[in-house]
Amino acid sequence: MLAMNIKKLVKKEVSGLQAYNAKELPCRIKLDANESPYGFSAALKAVGGLKTNRYPDPEAKTLKGLLAKDLRVGKDSILQGNGSDELIYYLIATFGGPVLYPVPTFSMYGIIAQALGEKRIAIPLNGEFDLDLRNILSEVKSEQPKLIFLSSPNNPTGNCFSSEKMLKIIENSGCIVVVDEAYQPFASERGFLPLLKDYQNLVIMRTLSKIGLAALRTGFLIADPLIVNEVNKVRLPFNVNSLSQAVAIAALREKKELKSFIGQIVSERRRLFKEMAKINGIRPYPSEANFILFSVNDPKKAYASLLNKGILVRNMGDAVRGCLRVTVGKPGENTAFLRALKEIRF
Ligand SMILES: *Cc1c(COP(=O)(O)O)cnc(C)c1O
Repeated sequence: MLAMNIKKLVKKEVSGLQAYNAKELPCRIKLDANESPYGFSAALKAVGGLKTNRYPDPEAKTLKGLLAKDLRVGKDSILQGNGSDELIYYLIATFGGPVLYPVPTFSMYGIIAQALGEKRIAIPLNGEFDLDLRNILSEVKSEQPKLIFLSSPNNPTGNCFSSEKMLKIIENSGCIVVVDEAYQPFASERGFLPLLKDYQNLVIMRTLSKIGLAALRTGFLIADPLIVNEVNKVRLPFNVNSLSQAVAIAALREKKELKSFIGQIVSERRRLFKEMAKINGIRPYPSEANFILFSVNDPKKAYASLLNKGILVRNMGDAVRGCLRVTVGKPGENTAFLRALKEIRF
């Protein structure tokens, strides 16, 4: 074998990364990944007539048409992604860095920026998990980022950022501001879509992953057609496969069901929050998403003892010291989680 120093051949930004470890722990009740507990198995019928020998529709025309109608935007304002993760990749490949984002937030902004060799500017959120506007605007001035990512509702804190602060950033940053609305369907506010026509540098990201279709890996961005046109240049030709397109189309047509699932999750979120707040040693943070962040005296022990009862949550580790994150499940799952949480002895 011709031995080589492979590590030395890898770009230094990549060799400094760790592969994203989406752990698959066996468990009875899975509340760790912000998935919906409700699926759309009937929509699988839509793949029956699929021609496996043909490439997918590269433009995902039917899917985009449906989304355009639902969101009341033009088809040319939408770009499809293999999950919104892929669109984060494309956005950074298109506009470059520095890439600015608050922390804690969704980890992919930083990971992808690093993989692509772009500078990262991570600005801590304030004590209310809201944006530190002064700090952000001062970094904007000195570092001149090309991209700002704002996840609202934010993962993992669950809150929406103040819209006034977000607007100030959009108006004063002179760069592309991406509002990641992965959890918008669960929020009480309407989100930033209505503002697209007023701000040409605004990009909205949405995904089907949190509303029952995580298996499909389908996300999309909505922006001025000029932005869509540029980002589309780095998109791989057949990035959303035929099965995903077909199932997504069928599921999106089940509007009543989609709405009722979201309604159930929001009402269970309220119940979970209320019940968690009553438990000694637990502090849940208010959420506009399909999960709740909570601090607990001994997170490691709480995590292990939940898992011991078959309930998997997410230990936020260093990202949010002292906190675990639980996804809202079906009523029975949430009740089991609450019962297990009450039984932990610190
Ligand atoms: C889950 C999540 C995503 C990823 O969505 P995919 O479409 O599944 O890639 C994007 N942004 C945030 C904030 C998320 O929590």
